[in-house]
Amino acid sequence: MWENRNGKVDIKSLTLPQLEEELVNLGEKPFRARQLYQWMHRKLARDYGGMTNLPGELREKLAKHYACTCLRQVHMQESRADGTKKFLFALEDGHVVESVWMRYKHGNSVCISSQVGCRMGCRFCASTLGGLVRGLLPGEMLDQIYAISLLTGERVSNVVVMGTGEPLDNYDSLLQFLRLLTDEKGLHISARNITVSTCGLVPEMRRLAREKLQITLALSLHAATDEKRKSLMPIANRYSIAQLMEACGFYFSQTGRRITFEYSLVGGVNDTREDARLLAGLAGPRRCHVNLIPVNPIRERDYVQSEAGRIQVFKNMLEKNGINVTIRREMGRDIDGACGQLRRSYMQEE
Ligand code: SAH
Repeated sequence: MWENRNGKVDIKSLTLPQLEEELVNLGEKPFRARQLYQWMHRKLARDYGGMTNLPGELREKLAKHYACTCLRQVHMQESRADGTKKFLFALEDGHVVESVWMRYKHGNSVCISSQVGCRMGCRFCASTLGGLVRGLLPGEMLDQIYAISLLTGERVSNVVVMGTGEPLDNYDSLLQFLRLLTDEKGLHISARNITVSTCGLVPEMRRLAREKLQITLALSLHAATDEKRKSLMPIANRYSIAQLMEACGFYFSQTGRRITFEYSLVGGVNDTREDARLLAGLAGPRRCHVNLIPVNPIRERDYVQSEAGRIQVFKNMLEKNGINVTIRREMGRDIDGACGQLRRSYMQEE
């Protein structure tokens, strides 16, 4: 498991017990695994060279037998408006992924990608235009956070899996990533400070519920009727809103965590009073939080943002119905803000 394209195991993708097993198989003592783990996941070492308390011979052995994910920054854009930084990282096989660093009052947040490309096909999203290339390894998800905390020199307190890719379409890898990220011997990010966003893969939502993690699950709803949802998201042909609501209820019953509904407002498509009323009918009984996102127009589609006035009316309607609602601050609008836009501009230049 967790092998890269060359068939080598990515050592950064292993939990401490797995690492111990590997090292014992190499004829080493288990405490070497603890040292190595600490270098990778606590001290964020970028290569074996700096792991000074490991014997040179062991470092050579490790380099020979394992891959060690280390993302390389190929591009960075910084927003003049709010300091948001968008990074483009190269993976070992030359593919690139994007990650975003955002500063909020309550701490710094990193938004990571879970796949190279995406196969979900949401109509308004730039990440899906080139299809799916591959899922990321746990170490490749982690290293986006490690690299950013080294590059910015700042502590990361929140992680959102909302970049390119559908995290639940890369389920095993996502779970291993969450284990490593929340591990007290690693970066030790609290599960409550982690959000995973899904377009709504019902079986995987249920599977995730059974893990009973304290993470926040965000559901990209974007429409309150099946018909409208199908026009925006191909996945709606597979799972109905009724099935999604059942899965949300199950998630809450298993974890005690309320779901966040994400709703991108697209001018003239899903932003009427009737849409708001129907959305309130879904969110209200489940006491879900609604996060409104003014759609970020992409070059390849002619979707436009709802007018500011309409967004306000939409929000007020929800609030009148007792829904807890926020409008997502548009971070980094002056850089290629929307999912997948930076990667796409980069690939088109290459
Ligand atoms: N695949 C996951 C996570 C990635 S996208 C999901 O679907 O939830 C993170 C959020 O941004 C999703 O709600 C997605 O629908 C939304 N999104 C993607 N492109 C957007 C755009 N151009 N404008 C506004 N929201 C967008």
